Amino acid sequence: MTDVVGVPLSTAAACTGCGAPRVLPVVCTECGTIFEIPSDAFELFGLARSWAVDLPSLEQRYDALSRAFREKSSARTDGLERSKAAVEALDAARRLLLDPVERARYLLTSYGGVEREKPMRKREFQSEVMEIDRAFTKARQEGDAARLASAVLEAEEKLASAIVAAGQSFTRLERSLSEELGAAADALAEARFWRRKVDELRAGLGG
Ligand SMILES: [Zn+2]
Repeated sequence: MTDVVGVPLSTAAACTGCGAPRVLPVVCTECGTIFEIPSDAFELFGLARSWAVDLPSLEQRYDALSRAFREKSSARTDGLERSKAAVEALDAARRLLLDPVERARYLLTSYGGVEREKPMRKREFQSEVMEIDRAFTKARQEGDAARLASAVLEAEEKLASAIVAAGQSFTRLERSLSEELGAAADALAEARFWRRKVDELRAGLGG
């Protein structure tokens, strides 16, 4: 069973401020007590860290959190400053999750990757850039509006395909990560079983 924003109710504890069930992990929707503001943008919204962000779910959670911060937390005597900070953190997290380039940067870093100034693995990158720059400069000199627009369009297409490529990489990474985690969990379960079994058999040796 889940509440309106999809947070499992069974895992929600009671609010330390008013005793109401904690519907959101971050803030009490009844009294506005702010429990914690996670620095992780996904965690703040209670979403799994993933390239794929469920937009309706993000917006629904944003509304619920934002309402609790603005209407409940800010009304508390101790709450105004914390509520402002919480709303700022919420807005920043939402912007990050909605912007594919920012989301990619965040995921890359969280996987231990390091940002680069320019692609190292794509040989043709430099010549692609030069080609578009040249086409744009020439079109501007000639006052050719159609060619100018098409140079911009071409750059937009490069942007779009780079975002698609990032998404494909993160999706593969998530899939293999979850498969390997599953394999590791199986191996661990089996190791635990055999450790008990070895103990049990050893104990039977003496008899
Ligand atoms: Zn409360």
